[in-house]
Amino acid sequence: MSLRSFLQELEKANELIKVKEEASVKHEIAAVLKEYETSVMLFENVKESKVPVVAGVCGTRGRICRALNVSEEELYGRLIEAMRAPKRPKVVKEAPVREVIEGPDLSKLPILTHYERDMGPYITSGVVFAKFPDGRGQNASIHRMLVLDRNRLAIRLVPRHLYYIFKLAKERGEALEVAIAIGLHPAVMLAASSSPPFGRDEMEVANALLNDKLELTPCEKVDILVPSEAEVVLEGRILPDVEAEERMVDITELYDVVRKQPVIELVNVMRREDCIYQALLPSGPEHKLLMGLPREAMIWESVLNVVPKVKAVNLTAGGCGWLHAVISIEKQTDGDAKNALLAAFGAHPSLKLAIVVDTDVNAYDLREVEWALATRFQAGEDLVLIPRARGSTLDPSADQETGLTTKVGMDATKPLREPKERFERAAIPIEPRAAEVIEGLRKLVTRSKAESS
Ligand code: MN
Repeated sequence: MSLRSFLQELEKANELIKVKEEASVKHEIAAVLKEYETSVMLFENVKESKVPVVAGVCGTRGRICRALNVSEEELYGRLIEAMRAPKRPKVVKEAPVREVIEGPDLSKLPILTHYERDMGPYITSGVVFAKFPDGRGQNASIHRMLVLDRNRLAIRLVPRHLYYIFKLAKERGEALEVAIAIGLHPAVMLAASSSPPFGRDEMEVANALLNDKLELTPCEKVDILVPSEAEVVLEGRILPDVEAEERMVDITELYDVVRKQPVIELVNVMRREDCIYQALLPSGPEHKLLMGLPREAMIWESVLNVVPKVKAVNLTAGGCGWLHAVISIEKQTDGDAKNALLAAFGAHPSLKLAIVVDTDVNAYDLREVEWALATRFQAGEDLVLIPRARGSTLDPSADQETGLTTKVGMDATKPLREPKERFERAAIPIEPRAAEVIEGLRKLVTRSKAESS
């Protein structure tokens, strides 16, 4: 299963926007992506490169669901199931990504410079593969990588799995072999952004998501397996003793501090003859969804321990896809919503604000969520404050020395003891005739209710 097969599917559904106008990798493509951030765009005429650029592939929930062939309600269950029952992918020798094998030259790829004060062009959709220290299986994770020159990148390693594997190699004074795959099916991207326990191979999760249709192929100069249908694979080593400064925009839409990070030296490139380069706008919806969705699934599963039905979990875009959640539940007793809040905070330690609503409120529509707060929430009894808890280092308002934050929980569900009618939203019956008129007007009326909210 490949990125291009999914792009073809999107094209048939009229969801792929082809940009014929010339655009530069330096700020221009990023500016267009920012303006149309939930669309999938294919830039066919890139000023600096023959390679076209695609971006926005995982930019909406609906598109991710389409790629995984599930409904929005089934999504979290599917992700949890794939993490619980991963499947080992087949290994093949003949692979589309092996069409061209050549020496490394990053200047041939249309790598975007995004924001004003970013330190340079960054690869933002690269999945980095490395072998586990025991040699059994591989880790796969997404990292931002700053282009330093034709064959070197600075890689941002937060203290997670790849950081740990690199640390062990560094302690032995050895370089760590890595392969960077670019241009991948959404299931592979999502699996690489999920955090199964250390030692679990994310590509086995991806293969479970793809119903056993993922194939891997060996690299040329490093001992690593990569998706056989990737567009481009960069092979290299993270050097044990070299660091470079890098800085770019994070998921919070804020500039990160300048950091010294490890350097990758590339040794080889494998690619398709007519490869497409996949970009991803930092802090855009795609960034937020890829990071947030696996966390939403974890919150969903955890809240399911305290209430029988969890309809939706929304790590909101305004909350950086990471810090704020709206959770819709069906509650049995009046204390359930507070237990749901506690379960959510336990499942996602970075969570700072959580709002629980009933299932008649759309958790993805913040106007409806505010309506629930206005009509079903009393701060005196429905507010939970947890001062001085561990929060996210991404939040600049948290205590920068200790990382402590105050967590806020809001129970905006209607009280069960009160008469139901008091909290019922008025509805207008839609007779078939009215439905017809509404449908007929849709093309003429530019702003519908959904669009203006
Ligand atoms: Mn991992």
